[in-house]
Amino acid sequence: MRKVWHAHVHRCRPVNPASEGAAEAGTLYIVPTPIGNLSDLSPRALRVLDSVDVVAAEDTRTTGAMLTHFGIRARLTALHEHNESQVVGSLLARLAEAQSVALVSDAGTPLISDPGFRLVDAVRSAGHPVVALPGPCAAVAALSAAGLPSDAFSFFGFPPPKAGARRDWLQAHVHWPHTMVMYESSHRIQGLAADLAPAFGASRQVALAREISKRFEQHWRGEAAALPSWLAEDDNRQRGEFVVMVAAGAPPDPEEAIDRLLRPLLEDLEPSRAARVVASALGERRNTVYRRAMALAGDAPPTAKE
Ligand code: SAM
Repeated sequence: MRKVWHAHVHRCRPVNPASEGAAEAGTLYIVPTPIGNLSDLSPRALRVLDSVDVVAAEDTRTTGAMLTHFGIRARLTALHEHNESQVVGSLLARLAEAQSVALVSDAGTPLISDPGFRLVDAVRSAGHPVVALPGPCAAVAALSAAGLPSDAFSFFGFPPPKAGARRDWLQAHVHWPHTMVMYESSHRIQGLAADLAPAFGASRQVALAREISKRFEQHWRGEAAALPSWLAEDDNRQRGEFVVMVAAGAPPDPEEAIDRLLRPLLEDLEPSRAARVVASALGERRNTVYRRAMALAGDAPPTAKE
């Protein structure tokens, strides 16, 4: 009897009653949506989208179609990068009237290379609760499958779109101490891939994830120099959406940094002055830098006094 009673209690316990997971009054919900596979929309996300007073969407048609697929009829309002500042005021007013709001982007987690930062900042500043639902995010999914160190990583969004600026930007990160994660579109993936080996060295470990959670999902991992030819082998590999990851670089060689600063300074300054500037900029010992300055200037360092 006792066992039956326990079973009965367990079965009848309201695991997910109608009210559970429904939107709370005056709250902003950040709701990630699928980046490919619609089954990745969580039951909780569905519940929130179904119960909020308004869904602020990057593209109301895209989100409308997704919600229709799930049989949800929500009130939609547009919030995209061009109108975010204007829309924030009206959404704040709704929250102040105890309405609940969900923020979604076209795909993935809002604010991650998507609009929403201004809204969340304003909502927090106004003292309304912000609840983040965990869910699909291309960067996190890609990193979790790359097998590159993930204890610390840096997410950079999209690299600069223009080739020259992109090369400078990549070059500037040659010693970046954590795995770098970036987004790229099909228009620029070959350009980015071609710039990796010159910037980071041919053997730097690189990973690429494409079309995550979609039919032609692929994950590639190898040396930077091999990525352009892998992409070129099959035109289909250049299609779709990409996450590119680059392993961390070795810390800079202090002598390299000293030389890089000293060389241009020595064109205009005496070695002793150049050494003073560089030593203070880099926090290095002045004598060490002075010896190097003398060597670069083609003079032997003085031996008696410095
Ligand atoms: N908020 C989204 C997220 O959480 O991932 C990212 C939005 S951003 C505008 C779009 C970029 O994310 C794409 O250009 C691509 O780099 C990456 N991305 C989105 N979906 C992807 C997928 N299924 N596979 C690989 N990368 C994807």
